[in-house]
Amino acid sequence: MNITDPVYSDANKAREHLESLHWPNGPVCPHCGNCAADRITKLAGKSTRPGVHKCKECEKPFTVTIGTVMEDSKIPLNKWLMAFALFASSKKGFSAHQLHRTLGITYKSAWFMTHRIREALKTEITGPLGGEGQTVEADETFIGGKEKNRHKSKRATKRLGGSWGKETVFSLVERDGSVRSFHVASVTAANLRPMIVSQVDRASLLCTDDAGQYRHMGRDFRHEIVNHSAEEYVRGTIHTNTVEGYFSILKRGINGCYFHVSRGHLHRYLAEFDFRYSNRASLGVTDTERAQLAIMGAKGKRLIYRQPSPLAS
Ligand SMILES: [Zn+2]
Repeated sequence: MNITDPVYSDANKAREHLESLHWPNGPVCPHCGNCAADRITKLAGKSTRPGVHKCKECEKPFTVTIGTVMEDSKIPLNKWLMAFALFASSKKGFSAHQLHRTLGITYKSAWFMTHRIREALKTEITGPLGGEGQTVEADETFIGGKEKNRHKSKRATKRLGGSWGKETVFSLVERDGSVRSFHVASVTAANLRPMIVSQVDRASLLCTDDAGQYRHMGRDFRHEIVNHSAEEYVRGTIHTNTVEGYFSILKRGINGCYFHVSRGHLHRYLAEFDFRYSNRASLGVTDTERAQLAIMGAKGKRLIYRQPSPLAS
């Protein structure tokens, strides 16, 4: 990311950049869908905010941020674009505290921005992972603080070995491709099988470890197992190193940068890390392209949830 780019310092340049990304063929009315150039006027009066257009079909005014996560925000668009670029390029994530200091905005504004940006990064699922000749790895991991370090009143009541008091994340990774992560209640075959079957192309080779929940996946897929319990980790191309590599990025990010992620927000953080991994440099996606993809994702995702207190995170 080139921070000297004027789109990061000039709100008008930032708006023009957004318009070129969201309206490559000219303005589109978000109210009625009208896109005829002669039926849309750009308002340029002294009392009008810059960037306001008026639709001659439905008579309504609009700007490029309507219907995006930036709608109704008082934060200047150049700061929004910088925040998108920072999120898109920081492998381990970018905290609200860092954003608050970097952009010179209040912590509260930064906190709202981070959640809206994560919403924009949520990837639309287009089709199954894998396919003929492709390998998909499945595995689970546990995220969160150690239960013994918590105050007694806040500890989970049940002791569940390594996962005590932690949240469970299940991920599917296509080798040389995308990742999809899910916050799941438990790792049982009954829970995971429907997810695997709906997310992975049946022609794929599925690689897992020898945990019980994957034991019968051979009914649905060509299934290869590495016997982690017998200390076998790699057998030729049979391994789960790709998904484990992804988990190490996720954990370093969440533990090192976000410290505590609440249960209710974990899916947003997963969307963030999935987005960066699925659009990573080794797949040929540059930082600039990744930032543009993030901005494109801001469309149609205006956050409708009630704004919770920043302390809730
Ligand atoms: Zn219209």
